[in-house]
Amino acid sequence: MSKRVILPGSTIGILGGGQLGRMTAIEAKKMGYRVLCLDPTPDSPCGQVSDGQIVGSFNDLAAAEKLAEQSDVLVYEFENISASVVGALEQQYYVPQGSEILSITQHRVLEKGHLAKHLFPIAPYAVVNSEARLICALEQIGYPAVLKSATGGYDGKGQQVLRSQDDIPAAMALCGRGGQFVLEKFVQLLGEVSVIVARNGHGTTSLFPVAENLHRDNILHTTVVPARINASLEEEAQSLAKRIADSLQLVGILAVEMFVTPQGLMVNELAPRPHNSGHFSFGACHTSQFEQFVRAVCGLPFGSTELLFPAVMVNVLGADMPSLMKIIPYLPTNVKLHLYGKSGQAQYGRKMGHLLIKTNEPDLAIEWAEETLWGLKV
Ligand code: AMP
Repeated sequence: MSKRVILPGSTIGILGGGQLGRMTAIEAKKMGYRVLCLDPTPDSPCGQVSDGQIVGSFNDLAAAEKLAEQSDVLVYEFENISASVVGALEQQYYVPQGSEILSITQHRVLEKGHLAKHLFPIAPYAVVNSEARLICALEQIGYPAVLKSATGGYDGKGQQVLRSQDDIPAAMALCGRGGQFVLEKFVQLLGEVSVIVARNGHGTTSLFPVAENLHRDNILHTTVVPARINASLEEEAQSLAKRIADSLQLVGILAVEMFVTPQGLMVNELAPRPHNSGHFSFGACHTSQFEQFVRAVCGLPFGSTELLFPAVMVNVLGADMPSLMKIIPYLPTNVKLHLYGKSGQAQYGRKMGHLLIKTNEPDLAIEWAEETLWGLKV
C-alpha cells in the first residue's frame, strides 16, 4: 500500500494549514501536484498557496473525510492531529505516514518507551502519574530533573524544572492537573542538534545534514549548518536518525532532536513531519525537507540533500515583526526572507517567518540578526 506512486497532476491533501504545510505545498506545486488543505482558520498560511482549503477542525472526521474524498494522498503537517482521526482515515484512504507513528510521538511515555526498547540513548527517566509517584521518581532520578507532561506540551510548555526540594510544590501543582508525565534527568547540555530523515515505502532513507540548534525561551530560535560538532558525532547523529526511522517504519519525514552531552548524544524528541530545524534546507540544500517529504509520500526517488552553502536560519517571531518590517528594504544580499502570510495580531512568540543567511561566519550572522535586526544585546 505504501509503495504506491502518486504522480504529478494528482492531489495532495494536507491535514493542517500552517507554515509547514505552506512550504510543503509550495514545493508540491513546483513539482506539478495539486494541493488542498484542511485548517480551522480561513486563508491559512497553507491555504494561501494551495488550490483550495476546507475550513474545519483537524479533529473533525467529517471535514477530514471531505478533504480525503478530493485527494489522492493524505498527509499531516503537525503532530497534534488526532491519531484516531488519522486511524479512521487510513482505513479508507491513502495515508502513507499512518497513525501509529503519530500515536507514539504524540505521547512522551510511548515515545520514550519506544526509544528505550530499541536501546537508543536517552536521558534517564521515570513515568509519573500521581503526586506520590513524583516523589518516588525523584528519588530514582535525583536533582536536577525536569517534569514534562506526556501530551500536549511543546516548546517547553507543560514542563517544570526541579533543581531542589523547593521546586516540588510547583511540580506537584503540574502533576495535580492530572494525566501522565515523565520525570527526566536534566542533563548537562553542550549543545543541541537535530537530523531530518526521510524514508519511503521501500525502506530507502535520505538524511539531511546535521543541524545545530540554539533555543531561546525553550523555542528553537537559530539553526547553524553545518553543525559545529566533530565528524564522529555527526556520523553518530545521522546513524541514530536512520535507525530510529527504520525502527518506526517511517514513511514520510521525521525530525530527531538530540542533546549533545559529555556522555555523548541523547535523543530528546521526535516529530514525524517537516521541522523548524530543517528550514535551512529550503534554499541551502539541493532538495528541501518539504520536497523530500512530498517525494517520500508520493513514492518518488529522493533528491540529493547536499548542502549548497553554509547557512544560519533565524526564526522571525511576532515580537520581531515591527523591527523586521523596517529593515526589509535594507536586507543584505546574503539574506533571504521567508514570511508565512500569517495575518491578524502578531503575538509575541508566534512563528511568523524565518531568515536564511548564507554565511561562512555563523557567529557574525547571529550577531547581525540579534543586534542589527532586533537591537538585542546577547
Ligand atoms: P522539549 O520540549 O522536551 O523539547 O524541551 C525544550 C528544551 O528544554 C530543550 O530543547 C532543551 O533545551 C531543554 N531540555 C528539555 N529536556 C531537558 C533535559 N532533560 N535536560 C536538559 N535540558 C532539557
